Amino acid sequence: MSPIARLLAAVRTLHESQPALMRFAPWPDDLTEQQVTPLPCPAGQSLGQRALPGSRWTAPVIRALRRAAPDMEWRRTYTEQEVGARFLDTYGYVELFGPRGHFLSRKLRGYLGYWGPDLTYDWHAHEAEELYFTLSGSAVFSAHGSPNAVMKVGDARLHSSNQPHLMITLDRPYLAYAVWRGDGIEGLPMMSAS
Ligand code: ZN
Repeated sequence: MSPIARLLAAVRTLHESQPALMRFAPWPDDLTEQQVTPLPCPAGQSLGQRALPGSRWTAPVIRALRRAAPDMEWRRTYTEQEVGARFLDTYGYVELFGPRGHFLSRKLRGYLGYWGPDLTYDWHAHEAEELYFTLSGSAVFSAHGSPNAVMKVGDARLHSSNQPHLMITLDRPYLAYAVWRGDGIEGLPMMSAS
């Protein structure tokens, strides 16, 4: 089994073990592996050197991600003008499954995202509904119409369609599994005014 297939299996085990994830969406039954050219980014390359403590449930995903990271397509949606150089140097994500993922799915989109310590992921929004599930570290989440919350390992946070949200990481790197469902799952997050 390839490192990316092992990662998919680890994420599936996590997904199917967590009621919050299963309530949001069942594990997709339409996955087919795609040929995706690896694309490195600084955050992905530094994963192996980072202490990323998890829980009994999230540690297997973190381990599998470290192994698969060099084979994956690391993306950074934003420009330096939008988010600044430090953000781009310490952030990155992979689309494990979804419309353009390592595994194709039209039903659900699953990302693994990494943010360095002390980073503000400024206000942004997207049409798809989203569930964040924290794998390692902690971050403060804000969203229009929802109370602020500190998300820790094992915590889940829902964003509704087009609900602007913001995230600030604390003193450790933050690693999350984010899942998109519904209309707009082929879209991209857009920075918003507030
Ligand atoms: Zn989002």
